[in-house]
Amino acid sequence: MDGEGDVMTERQREGIRVTGAPRGGVEEDAGLHDLYRKACRLMPGGVNSPVRSFRAVGGTPLPVRGGHGPRLVDDTGAEYLDLVMGWGSLILGHAHPEVRKALQRALRRGWNFGALTGEEVVLAELLCRAVSGVEMVRLVNSGTEAAMSAVRLARAFTGRSKVVRFHACYHGHADALLTAPGEDGFSSRPSSLGVPPGCVADTLTLPYGDEASLRGVFEAHGEEIAAVIVEPVGGNAGVVIPAAGFLPEARGLCDRWGTLLIFDEVITGFRFRFGDCGEMLGVRPDLVCLGKIIGGGLPIGAYGGRGEIMELVAPLGGVYQAGTFSGNLASVTAGLATLEVLEEENPYPFLDELGSLLQKGLEEGAAEAGLEVKVHRFGSMLSLTFLPEAVGAGGKEQVNASYYGNFFHEMLKRGIYLPPSPSESWFLSTSHGEEDVRLLLEAAGEAFKEVRKRG
Ligand code: PLP
Repeated sequence: MDGEGDVMTERQREGIRVTGAPRGGVEEDAGLHDLYRKACRLMPGGVNSPVRSFRAVGGTPLPVRGGHGPRLVDDTGAEYLDLVMGWGSLILGHAHPEVRKALQRALRRGWNFGALTGEEVVLAELLCRAVSGVEMVRLVNSGTEAAMSAVRLARAFTGRSKVVRFHACYHGHADALLTAPGEDGFSSRPSSLGVPPGCVADTLTLPYGDEASLRGVFEAHGEEIAAVIVEPVGGNAGVVIPAAGFLPEARGLCDRWGTLLIFDEVITGFRFRFGDCGEMLGVRPDLVCLGKIIGGGLPIGAYGGRGEIMELVAPLGGVYQAGTFSGNLASVTAGLATLEVLEEENPYPFLDELGSLLQKGLEEGAAEAGLEVKVHRFGSMLSLTFLPEAVGAGGKEQVNASYYGNFFHEMLKRGIYLPPSPSESWFLSTSHGEEDVRLLLEAAGEAFKEVRKRG
């Protein structure tokens, strides 16, 4: 990495010296890194997003200084092969030269004008061209905002209140979408403290991919359902690929009952092809949510669809939605530069091959170590589930989590940075190569043996 990539100045480094005991139960551990101790005192769990805390795998988070290509650099300068890749947002790898150059050029002009820019129009045009069924789009700042706003729009368009979502999916942290299945019928309960039952009273939470319960919920509530929101391929409970009939069934039911179908493509958009994943699967939604890749690793989100629906959004229509940072030059520039590289290079067949190599190698490595695993993969996104023969009292999920935790730390020791939770997907980027996959598999072979030993 060159000097420009060094994200922490000497002065900032000085500032990380611990000046008091951290909160959150980490005070006693003398081995804790100074930065993390201070972080715990100043930020809940020492992080700005929960999964980064390593709670799902144990241990303390890796303080990161930078990244280049497929590698992450920690604050001691040690390098790790990164499979988190900005939670799927960095499909070209860290600090891609084209994205960096575009940012450096653009940012000379400033970065947040809170006014229309030419770049926003170019990005909007590109999204309308590449994403099927999108005639108009609104840029926002995160996937959370995109999903929340798409649901509001669907409610306004249909004049209805109820929304169907699926338990394995994640659509960000808007109140109405933070749900778990309720006790009876198709009801929901909040999956977070602080979400009042009233906020989820109109959300119906079903098991992902369950066509029978989808038909059932329409039989019971069809005329009240504004929208069905779904990840066309799930990426938030590991990788979950729906059976062939599920999305067409959802499309058919939505058509029959006058409900809008929303595909949350925050992860899947531009991940498997230049455009949406719905097109690949042969199902066109009414609204699409985007994020991650379309911002090239900077904060962004978007929602779009047919003109007659999008024209309801303010200022054209009465659906209010706004944002200080929406369409800012930094995010739009990084997104455009990323999408331009993707369109020019069409790396998708390569990414799929790399994913296949990784899947095969993981399956073989686990079998050699005498472990049964299932690799779930769609293109360049994959996840790994341990299927031990003896499932203790904790049940399958807990045993998988404990095996995954051990595997994660064995891999980290060997310089491989996997998502610090078994529920998160691994992402390959165009900066990864066959040699990286070989390195990863070598480490995995050893890690599987260690995991097996511990049982
Ligand atoms: N939708 C999906 C499918 C996601 O995976 C995520 C985040 O991972 C979100 C929405 C929320 O996006 P953000 O974290 O940008 O708010």
